[in-house]
Amino acid sequence: MDVSADIANQPVSAAPATAKRLEKLGIRRRFDLVLHLPLRYEDETHLYTIADAPYGQPVLVEGEVIASEVQFKPRRQLIVQIEDRTGTLVLRFIHFYPSQQKQLARGRRVRALGEVKRGFHGDEIIHPKIREVVAGEPLADHLTPIYPTVNGLTQPVLRRMIAAEVKVQNLADTLPADLKQRLDLADFGHAVRLLHSPTPEYSARDLTDPMLPAWQRLKFDELLAQQLSMRLAYRARRKGRAVPLVGTGTLRTRLAEQLPFALTGAQAKVLEEIDADLAKTHPMHRLLQGDVGSGKTIVAAMAALSAIEAGYQVALMAPTEILAEQHYLKLSGWLEPLGVKVVWLSGSLRKKQKAETIGEITDGSARLAVGTHALFQDDVAFARLGLAIVDEQHRFGVGQRLALKDKGGEAHQLMMSATPIPRTLAMSFYADLDVSVIDELPPGRTPIVTKLINANRRDEVIAFVRRTVAEGRQVYWVCPLIEESEALELQTAVDTHAVLSEELAPIEVGLVHGRMKSAEKADVMGRFSDNWLQVLVATTVIEVGVDVPNASLMVIEHAERMGLAQLHQLRGRVGRGAAKSSCVLLFETPLSEIAKARLKVIYENSDGFEIARQDLLIRGPGEFLGARQSGLPMLRFANLEEDIALLEEAKAFAPEMLKQHPTLAEAHLRRWLAGREHFLNA
Ligand code: ADP
Ligand code: MG
Repeated sequence: MDVSADIANQPVSAAPATAKRLEKLGIRRRFDLVLHLPLRYEDETHLYTIADAPYGQPVLVEGEVIASEVQFKPRRQLIVQIEDRTGTLVLRFIHFYPSQQKQLARGRRVRALGEVKRGFHGDEIIHPKIREVVAGEPLADHLTPIYPTVNGLTQPVLRRMIAAEVKVQNLADTLPADLKQRLDLADFGHAVRLLHSPTPEYSARDLTDPMLPAWQRLKFDELLAQQLSMRLAYRARRKGRAVPLVGTGTLRTRLAEQLPFALTGAQAKVLEEIDADLAKTHPMHRLLQGDVGSGKTIVAAMAALSAIEAGYQVALMAPTEILAEQHYLKLSGWLEPLGVKVVWLSGSLRKKQKAETIGEITDGSARLAVGTHALFQDDVAFARLGLAIVDEQHRFGVGQRLALKDKGGEAHQLMMSATPIPRTLAMSFYADLDVSVIDELPPGRTPIVTKLINANRRDEVIAFVRRTVAEGRQVYWVCPLIEESEALELQTAVDTHAVLSEELAPIEVGLVHGRMKSAEKADVMGRFSDNWLQVLVATTVIEVGVDVPNASLMVIEHAERMGLAQLHQLRGRVGRGAAKSSCVLLFETPLSEIAKARLKVIYENSDGFEIARQDLLIRGPGEFLGARQSGLPMLRFANLEEDIALLEEAKAFAPEMLKQHPTLAEAHLRRWLAGREHFLNA
């Protein structure tokens, strides 16, 4: 390793308080300072006379303070008047420190930077940036970079630290020359120096243009580092060992004979892809994507049978108790008749029962274990885990995924998700996974009619519920999400249940919410499933996975509070049988712009992929991924929507770079991701 790499990765040397602030900005090692790039630029290279200073853009003027006083009406403020040979100008401060007052005392000479506006006192700048100067002091010879910062860390301090590092760090290029030429990318050192200390021919506007070659270069570098790390993670996994799981097919055939339906072409295709992976000697990491209702569960069951026939155990993990239980009921219904022991591990089991279940997992007699993340807690040790299936994988946090990784060891992993990952994200953050897509719904589904109804027309909705029940169908009624208070959310659900029971009598109305004991929940869901209950009032706990084909109407209260993925999931609870299904989205006015945009998207679209794409546009990828949940390092410079062309190039080039230029690839990764490795395999 060369010396420059060492100084790049040395921790920043700063007083503890400063170090802490830098840490908040993601700056830990010295090279991070080089990669901390300006948000914008201020122009202090040109001095305007007061008379000539134009409106509508930041300008720098210089003058002598001829008056300075604190006024109290209409509010406390500092009013300062400066003068040059062409005129006078007011500087107004609504927030100010005594030190500023001193700096702006009569007779001082200052430079003020800000936008001139016509004010009550004549032309004025509100809260200009002030610097005391001596007459004839030279102007800055380049634009002043303004960096993202945090409280307590001033621009000059940050700027000095950055400038010092830019000077001493090795900025040698990590991209091969022919690639730079082909993509017309700037030189790394040149790009970084230009952005930190621009040369005079660039205006502030030029320098914030994302198409500027210097920015393009940094975006590309960032995307390439991400692609390289994904490739490496992928390779490392391919080097790992796992037992090949090949079944005889007997159990599958018997299960297929039992089913009231045949697999769709799309299901059969993804099952083949999974089978091919399971037969290999390195662990599968496959993401099975399929829109809500596309039939992922049966695919998971078929995959499980291969592992079981090969003599191994399977774990199926779901994000909520209610969903884990549904899976348990469905899978035990399918597999127990074949002589396969299925167990359910729930946090709510009685102690003795739990110990028993854990015993069956440990001694290997349980062939399929279904549960929440409780499955991967410390006291659970699988005898021979061959395959771990994670349903609704995007709902799990990094911690849980890591626990699975430890426990799962060399097990094959099948992750399932109904939240489709938009193409750009699939290409970037999920690039180390193999993906299978169920791109067709089972036959006989009817499109769901979505209605947007103002909550003041609730009576019509009640009538609709009655008609639906009269036709022998069932109804979900989802209570509003109340983010601030779980207690309030619960209360609302209880109240709604009481009101609807009365309004709809003699129709039987049930209630299910997250605070109920598992047994109670199971009981209610069971009665709804068997049509003893015709209407089910629920909190958003039924968001994922719940499957009652006879339900044909979904009513969602306060739909404007919910996210698009959530609305799409909820709506997908209906439209599973042959009956014509509807989803009524009740909303309260006034609607925020975002809520309006979301409701329009869900109203106009039924395809989960398109909805996810729109969601990404409305929220941005960071939000979509849920930084907290994914734990993935967000992109700082590149933007997945705007920079798709660069992303494609980076993706295409990464494998070639690893093969042809391994030393450069290593240097590139070190430069961009050193110290962040722990994110990569999360
Ligand atoms: P999801 O992909 O949302 O998890 P499920 O696995 O819950 O979907 O399946 C939704 C419904 O479709 C279930 O009732 C399931 O039994 C049914 N189903 C699955 N595959 C088929 C098929 N090939 N033909 C008909 N119905 C199917
Ligand atoms: Mg499901």
